[in-house]
Parts: sequence; structure tokens; C-alpha cells
Amino acid sequence: MEPAVYQLLNTALATHPGKELDDEHVQTLRAFVSDNVLLAAFDIVDKSFVNKLNLPGGRSMFEVQGATSAYIVTLGIESLSPCPASCTCPSFIHSTLSTGPTVMCKHILAVLIAQSMSRLTEKGLDLDELCALLKDHL
Ligand SMILES: [Zn+2]
Repeated sequence: MEPAVYQLLNTALATHPGKELDDEHVQTLRAFVSDNVLLAAFDIVDKSFVNKLNLPGGRSMFEVQGATSAYIVTLGIESLSPCPASCTCPSFIHSTLSTGPTVMCKHILAVLIAQSMSRLTEKGLDLDELCALLKDHL
């Protein structure tokens, strides 16, 4: 997924924060991602598997519980990387390595949807907790 497309998708989802997504939103999403990824992302959101981790210094990242383990999603890193978003899951890493920074996995999409619907659990992390988390995931 190109960064510009990611921005379009993010903007489309951001138009009605806190509400359920309507058919128009779902159709918009289907234009960008496969039905499999979309259904998997909605499943993650339905199960409340998206945690927003508030970091020292005001930044945040997300922990998404997948089928077998949890993954870390970061958004808004355009200034640091050609990827507008990243995920620590094997699918994202393999796709990025093979096709370049153009993919969106179900975890990133789940974060975007959960943000749009205000279906996030927020948790503050101090530096020690952040270090422990990164050690587990990276
Ligand atoms: Zn992922």
C-alpha cells in the first residue's frame, strides 16, 4: 500500500470517530484491502484486541493481539521511514522485504478501525515497561 493510499484510507476512517462504521466506510476499505484482511481486522476489533500504549514523552504505539501472539503497530512514522505504518508480524515483515514498504497487514488495519470507532484500550507505559515490551517483540 502506497503511503498516499494509506493517508486516504486513514482520512476516510477518521471522518466519523467514535461511531460504528457504515456500509460506505466498509466499501471504501474493500477498495484498498482484500476481504480476508478486512474480516480479520474487524474480528480483532470485535474482540477488543487493540491496546493503545501511551509512552513517556507523549508518543504512542499499539499492541494488537493476534491469533498466536501480540504484535506492535506504530503509526505516523513518515518522518523516520518510507512506511507510514509498521507492524512486527511476520506477514508485514516478509511482505515489506519482498515488495517494499507498500503493505498493510490486518493488525495495522485493525488499529485504524479501532481508532476510528474508539474501540481502544489505553494503557500508560513507563520506560522500564517499554524496554521489556520491545525486548519481547523485537
Ligand atoms: Zn501485522
